[in-house]
Amino acid sequence: MTSPFDDLLAANAAFARDFTDVDFDGVAAAGVAMVTCMDSRIDPLGMIGLRPGDAKIFRNPGGRVTSAALTALVLGVHLLNVHRVLIVPHTRCAMTSADEATLHHLLTEASGIDSSWLSLGTIPDQDQALRADVHSVRSHPLIPDSVAVGGFLYDVDTGALRQVV
Ligand SMILES: [Zn+2]
Repeated sequence: MTSPFDDLLAANAAFARDFTDVDFDGVAAAGVAMVTCMDSRIDPLGMIGLRPGDAKIFRNPGGRVTSAALTALVLGVHLLNVHRVLIVPHTRCAMTSADEATLHHLLTEASGIDSSWLSLGTIPDQDQALRADVHSVRSHPLIPDSVAVGGFLYDVDTGALRQVV
């Protein structure tokens, strides 16, 4: 009996055999938290020279600062050593290239099910959204001014990260 997870569990067996990250604690060793998109082209740790143990990573479609992201950042800042926060949307993001109606059309075509009741959170103006997201972190009552918060754009074609705000 095969399962769709067999290859992944086999890979994990090898991973666990060579696992050396023992005595890890859950703090962000480099003091970093990143909010970024779920896009599979993005390697959040690799793009800034970090490795497991160094950073808190929060991902969602578009890399938006949602209320769940803010909760993660508050926990990170006060309990997990986070003192630098990067908000990282990216070029050629599906959440910015399609509007809500277009994405719903694609979803309904792919699934055969009406998805119009679901809010997708498409991003009409990526630059404006990034500025608003950075502001919502900086102005959060539970995130002190001592935390550095930056908004960056990641280029999926070059790997380059550029600070916007
Ligand atoms: Zn994206």
